[in-house]
Amino acid sequence: MDLTEPDAGSDLQAVQLKAAWDEKKGIWLLNGVKRFITNGDGDIALVLARSEAGTKDGRGLSMFIYDKRSGGVTVRRIEHKMGIIGSPTCELVFKDAPGEIVGDRKLGLIKYVMALMNGARLGIHAQSVGVSESAYREALSYAKERVQFGKAIIRFPAVYEMITTMKAKLDASRTLLYETARFVDMYKTYAHISDERALDKDEKAEMKKYQRLSDLFTPLGKGIASEFCNQLAYDAVQIHGGSGFMKDYPVERIYRDARITSIYEGTTQLQVVAAIRGVTTGGYLAQIREYESQKITPELEFMRRTLIILTDDYEQAVTRVVESNDNEFIDFHARRLVEMAGFILMSYLLVVDSNRDASFTKSAKVFIKLTKSLVKGHAEFIRGSVVEDLAAYKIEME
Ligand SMILES: Cc1cc2nc3c(=O)[nH]c(=O)nc-3n(C[C@H](O)[C@H](O)[C@H](O)COP(=O)(O)OP(=O)(O)OC[C@H]3O[C@@H](n4cnc5c(N)ncnc54)[C@H](O)[C@@H]3O)c2cc1C
Repeated sequence: MDLTEPDAGSDLQAVQLKAAWDEKKGIWLLNGVKRFITNGDGDIALVLARSEAGTKDGRGLSMFIYDKRSGGVTVRRIEHKMGIIGSPTCELVFKDAPGEIVGDRKLGLIKYVMALMNGARLGIHAQSVGVSESAYREALSYAKERVQFGKAIIRFPAVYEMITTMKAKLDASRTLLYETARFVDMYKTYAHISDERALDKDEKAEMKKYQRLSDLFTPLGKGIASEFCNQLAYDAVQIHGGSGFMKDYPVERIYRDARITSIYEGTTQLQVVAAIRGVTTGGYLAQIREYESQKITPELEFMRRTLIILTDDYEQAVTRVVESNDNEFIDFHARRLVEMAGFILMSYLLVVDSNRDASFTKSAKVFIKLTKSLVKGHAEFIRGSVVEDLAAYKIEME
């Protein structure tokens, strides 16, 4: 996927790479520069380009496919990166590169990139779970082996708390991944069936429901799981002490590899921009209520009771921010609100997992404690926050 350009990263509406129709040759020719392209040295790629001369926004962009073997594209540079060094990240120069249009003109960004990006974001969520799992395993085995003050360091509360919290975050990331993937599978399956025959009314409603849930959960999951992945990598290095800083142990690479997950396929800040609608429209709250109403064994009831109280805190925080009617104030608190929703949702998913399999109960208990401190902390911050406070954060341009 060749989307990013020097002046168009998070803001893909600013893409400038030109696609011009050559009447004589009867082909589209692509001209411009793309940067930070994963596997940009490969043969086949999808390119987002401005097909409508004179336009400035996303509606002037179309999707093209090109085959590098047809000529016109050179890899000008392969980036020297902090991590994921096994994957080449390229700067590409297009000079009259022949491309074929994909689908309909002008739908490049608003339809096709959005669809591709949702799939890719789910992929990065999965990558984050994978990196988190390896960070956890490395930390756990090192902490069992390393002896200080006459005992294995895993015996110290500071260390076992870190490791158990890592496991809780890992399980929370994974359960959210599976739930999101389930929504996507349901929605896509209906979409495939609808290619073959017309869906009936109930099927159409189901498809819509799962599409809406996929859109709600995809940015939330990518945003939170990639941040957790970085936190786990950080803690895994910490548990290794000085050895973690050396190239001798895998955690050094895990730490570097984790860093990209919260940047590519949209930074965490851009996931929040996508997810905040789910907060303001009540989408996350409706799903929280759905989980809240699920049947669970009486032994787990205390977890639900805690989550109901935290959901009240979340609702009040949302009301306070939304009722300000101030977009900048909403943007200012967006990450806090998205995190509150995300932590409560992950907590419920862990309760449901515990209900099925007792091996998740420990993580559910620990994660709910984490959720309580995050939700209470964010709620308190928002309760004491007014629009005028933003002045204290704003930075003057020189
Ligand atoms: C290793 C690697 C591989 C990549 N692979 C690909 C690829 O295959 N194809 C491709 O097209 N791209 C690829 N990218 C590009 C990647 O998707 C972008 O780097 C990313 O989307 C961020 O864009 P940017 O670097 O221009 O940062 P910027 O958009 O300049 O962002 C800088 C900072 O500003 C913040 N920011 C920007 N806008 C907002 C906003 N509205 N609200 C709040 N905060 C904001 C960001 O969160 C970030 O913290 C890759 C990048 C890397 C590093």
